Amino acid sequence: MKFYIETYGCQMNIYDSEIICSILLKSGFIKTSNLKKADIILLNTCSIREKPEKKIFNRFLKIKCFKKTNKKLKLGIVGCLATHYKKKLFEKFKFIDLIVGPDSYKKLPEMINKLKNNNKEIDVSLANKERYTKIIPNRGRNGISAFLSIIRGCDKMCTFCIVPYSRGREKSRNPNSILKECKLLYKKGYKEIILLGQNVDAYFWKKMKFFQLLELIAKTVPLMRIRFLTSYPSNITKNLLKVVKKYSNICKHFHLPLQSGSTRILSLMRRKYTVEEFLLIIKRIKKILPDCSISSDIMTGFCTETQADHRETIRIMNLIKFNFSFMFKYSSRQGTYAYRKLKDNVPNSLKISRLNEIIMLQKSHSFYRLKQNIGKIQEVLIEGISKKDEKYYYGRNSNNDIIVFPKNKSKIGSYKKVKIINSTFTTLIGEIIP
Ligand code: SAM
Repeated sequence: MKFYIETYGCQMNIYDSEIICSILLKSGFIKTSNLKKADIILLNTCSIREKPEKKIFNRFLKIKCFKKTNKKLKLGIVGCLATHYKKKLFEKFKFIDLIVGPDSYKKLPEMINKLKNNNKEIDVSLANKERYTKIIPNRGRNGISAFLSIIRGCDKMCTFCIVPYSRGREKSRNPNSILKECKLLYKKGYKEIILLGQNVDAYFWKKMKFFQLLELIAKTVPLMRIRFLTSYPSNITKNLLKVVKKYSNICKHFHLPLQSGSTRILSLMRRKYTVEEFLLIIKRIKKILPDCSISSDIMTGFCTETQADHRETIRIMNLIKFNFSFMFKYSSRQGTYAYRKLKDNVPNSLKISRLNEIIMLQKSHSFYRLKQNIGKIQEVLIEGISKKDEKYYYGRNSNNDIIVFPKNKSKIGSYKKVKIINSTFTTLIGEIIP
């Protein structure tokens, strides 16, 4: 039986798709990258915001058409939309055959086999503390950089966020299994590991905290680059910063969601820091790691956000000048505290205009930060051929900036010293130092 999988959403979903592929391949299923040849199509979905959700619903309808020409074709919805809507998805989209949540992927082979009798199958339980410890993901990316999930779910209960409900509560993974997988990745020729977690720095196993795990990994695979995301601001400790500084193979980059520059809004969001505390955290990072880059997530139009709150966000962005940010307009998600208890009272047009304003501002900050690299020589891990010009490679520096440069007989997967000679709004341009 051939399966085709399409992934939406964050890195965690990409990782989960790799887990799903591994489980299905081990049970004798065959992976196809041609949707038309598939017996079952799996959509690994995201429910974090309304916009990606709408996109996925439109995709459902497209796939419904394929079912008309291939009567035996099955459609399975896995991931966050499965746990968010549960069996309501069957009611809304009658052509869906299978619904499976993020903790039940091991049951997929058995559930898919049962579909042959035209059954509908569903498992959206989040109670089993599943960590997929023993499953080595079938990594379908570039063979250079590998995602590795160290903690699943989230305990933070931010009032806007669906994650604790769609992915369950926090569960850290046994460090021995993490280290074993790091060694395996090194043996397979991977050059970089990206440690994943909704709040990666909330990792906790018996007495082991995130900074201790990070140090162990850095020592275990000293020739590999280590990245990690997402960091929760108030979990950043001095110990963590010291470890990041001590090991040259740990990349100097934090992804640190601010969400809003107004303490009033942060408190409504149930974030565990004030704006002043966030600024202190940035100060602490820059003191210990002056060349560290910081990226963020920022939202506009959260419940009751006033123009004054928005101006505060602008002020804080101007103070910090993030290297990069993902920016969103708030969308109310059913099941969250904000959906039940707060007023989603900022008009959509205002959410959008505020969003456009911060996008423009971030663009200027990213450009400002990128330009600071000009003239510097940086170590770049070559990840692939530039999409714009095949005579160029692209890669990343420790700060997670993308750099393009002439190939100059180098190889994908190698580290090169690159001199930065110019910058666009999004990308650095360099040349390899012979
Ligand atoms: N765990 C991280 C944290 O909150 O610190 C990030 C989790 S989430 C996968 C990624 C981002 O999506 C969030 O940081 C937030 O900016 C955005 N987001 C989450 N819920 C949202 C909502 N209801 N509307 C708009 N953006 C949202």
